[in-house]
Amino acid sequence: MTQTEQQRRAYLDALGIDVWVPRGEAEEPAVATEVGSDVKKTLAAGLDWDELRESVAACVRCELHQGRTQTVFGVGDRTANWMVVGEAPGAEEDRRGEPFVGRAGKLLDEMLRAIGQRRDSVFIANILKCRPPNNRDPKPEEADACRSYLDRQIELVGPRIILAVGRIAAQQLLGSDEPVGRLRGRVHRLSDIPVVVTYHPAYLLRSPAQKRKAWDDLCLARRVVSGGAA
Ligand code: URA
Repeated sequence: MTQTEQQRRAYLDALGIDVWVPRGEAEEPAVATEVGSDVKKTLAAGLDWDELRESVAACVRCELHQGRTQTVFGVGDRTANWMVVGEAPGAEEDRRGEPFVGRAGKLLDEMLRAIGQRRDSVFIANILKCRPPNNRDPKPEEADACRSYLDRQIELVGPRIILAVGRIAAQQLLGSDEPVGRLRGRVHRLSDIPVVVTYHPAYLLRSPAQKRKAWDDLCLARRVVSGGAA
């Protein structure tokens, strides 16, 4: 089976649509399972913005779809230099269908304003597009299931910098288990894109003394965008 065909089938599968396959092929479960998990990682590859949005809205790839009011795709400038990646929608985001609209979102807006950006001049997305119940941490399998959507968003935006806010975003994006305190303060790379890690605004609301460090992180990211830091 070609990769395109594998992707098409995985896509239909994810939407809950039965795929009719020739008899011989249907009798290869071992290979199909193995290939299937690879395909899931690249499920959104090649989709354009509209296809991607539709595919996210219809997603049933993990159990979180059962509890969502709606998916939270992401907002902002699709050609932005800055991309902000957070963790997952909370209650308010789930209700409104937009990331970072609660109290933490207001602080994120202020942080962006401080570096001359606005909510609509950056692109904001999350690791997960659906709200985990009771704001629990995303499970690894949920982050895995959602990853190709974010990867495709990053590919389509083509940002000059990714600002990963909070532990979950940073660890998931960078495939690391180091704490934010150790990941911040330097420039990482995701493929070729520089990634700067900072504290989650919800954490900064609880620990305002760390705002100073978050400011340093924003300045580092700004230097990267303007070509002054690798
Ligand atoms: N926290 C996040 O990480 N993302 C949101 O969209 C809202 C709160």
